Amino acid sequence: MEISDGEGFGIFADVNTKARGPSRHRGSNHFAHRVCYGIGRAGGRRRKRPELDVETGLDDGGDRRVDVRTGCILDEGFDEELGNDGLFRLRHDRQQYIHPTAAFTICTNCYPDPVPTDTNDLATSGLRIDIARLAARLADLADIGRIEGTEGSCRLALTDEDRAGRDLVVTWMRDLGLAVSIDGIGNIVAQTPGEGAPVMCGSHIDTVRTGGRYDGNLGVLAGLEVIETIQASGVQLDRPLAVGIFTDEEGARFAPDMLGSLVYVGDLPLEEALDIVAIDGAVLGDELDRIGYGGTAPVPGQVPHAYVELHIEQGPVLEVEGVTIGAVEGVQGISWTEVTVAGQSNHAGTTPIALRKDPGYVAAACATFVRELALELGHPQVGTVGRIEFKPNLVNVVPASATFTVDLRNTDEATLVEAERRFGEFLRRTADDEGCQVTTTPLARFAPVTFDDRVIALVEGTASNLGYSVRRMPSGAGHDAQMLARVCPTAMVFTNSVNGLSHNPAEYTAPGDLQAGANVLLHTMLALTTMSFADAGR
Ligand SMILES: [Zn+2]
Repeated sequence: MEISDGEGFGIFADVNTKARGPSRHRGSNHFAHRVCYGIGRAGGRRRKRPELDVETGLDDGGDRRVDVRTGCILDEGFDEELGNDGLFRLRHDRQQYIHPTAAFTICTNCYPDPVPTDTNDLATSGLRIDIARLAARLADLADIGRIEGTEGSCRLALTDEDRAGRDLVVTWMRDLGLAVSIDGIGNIVAQTPGEGAPVMCGSHIDTVRTGGRYDGNLGVLAGLEVIETIQASGVQLDRPLAVGIFTDEEGARFAPDMLGSLVYVGDLPLEEALDIVAIDGAVLGDELDRIGYGGTAPVPGQVPHAYVELHIEQGPVLEVEGVTIGAVEGVQGISWTEVTVAGQSNHAGTTPIALRKDPGYVAAACATFVRELALELGHPQVGTVGRIEFKPNLVNVVPASATFTVDLRNTDEATLVEAERRFGEFLRRTADDEGCQVTTTPLARFAPVTFDDRVIALVEGTASNLGYSVRRMPSGAGHDAQMLARVCPTAMVFTNSVNGLSHNPAEYTAPGDLQAGANVLLHTMLALTTMSFADAGR
């Protein structure tokens, strides 16, 4: 047993803190490695969470049943109260939610509502979201397009699965009495009654082919949870609230990504967007009509008073640093290019190397160069060749052509431009030397985005007032918020991703972290309803 100081509010002991590395278990249980127990002084908050064996659901002692979803110990051994040593043993009070395919147990002691330390609005300071209700909606949505045997989903933009997901969330929006509007690119906005521009949150519910249940979905469903919490409290706000679902954020079926929010802010004409052709050959406008989500609300859409998006980090920083909330300062710039190299298809045995025009060689050299370039430019430059297709793609044939993608990202625009320039030079030189022809098609290009200082500071202050650890950080992934930032004061709230995993069915964020993120979203939105932005706008 190890005794340590507990975050300045007393002494607690962690029982059985056998340390392990990150769990790498197979299948859908991999995430359930956290357990929260210990002995703490009354009023204490979250404790360290030793790991346990998720394969068996038993902890290191081998004799206690543990809920693999929440990490709560299910026997009565820890249901003890205040001891005569003045220390308080955590009881595990459970809220049960029975889902058709699973039972959720949320422990209200492992994930207590933190007490605000500084607030000037007594009417709203005690408001907290209902994590069981949020987890239930996340599970229901994840069931649509569920990838068999996993916790993840596949709802590519404007497919039947996307339609079913939209239908479900729109039903929830209408159940809350919200006014639901759908615009020409299929963005859905649900708004509470009231005067003036709304404080808006939102995200996306389309997924990549191997999607998790939190990416995007969390931002939308936490938005509904915020609205339901405020409605139930009866608190009257100065402004309406709105939650948006933006079409095709992922770009996995129709490029570019963040397409719906780009059209929403007026930076891609609707007609042009509707003509975009999917990787499967479908035309965006046809697919939108087919699933019944080509709406009549105008684009560009109404400019919100402010926008804040809750999203999982999709990276490892918060987890590694043991910080609960990220106050996101901006999004790194993204440059996507598709390159096609054409050469001379020929016999792999009879064609001497010196006489070849080999697009496969050029593509491979470029993939290697992208890695070297990123290393040379240094952090935070990253570069990826994620897709290569050879034709005819046969073992004994020098390819006739190679098509590949290049993804370059940086938080600094000048360095990103430099990376693009140097890659372009290398590509042309290498192709020339090999006697090949090159065509390049830009797939997406977004400059780095800096969010609004006032909203970043608000997110940071709100998190810390609620008792959560918080740090400022950039986003490594693109988000709808970067489009909204072009028209209104904007920032984002990050919550951690276990093992930094995303775009993977094993993507996982613990209930306590979902709860923390949604509570920060709630109180950030509440504060934004009374904040004025005299110099708001472009
Ligand atoms: Zn996302």
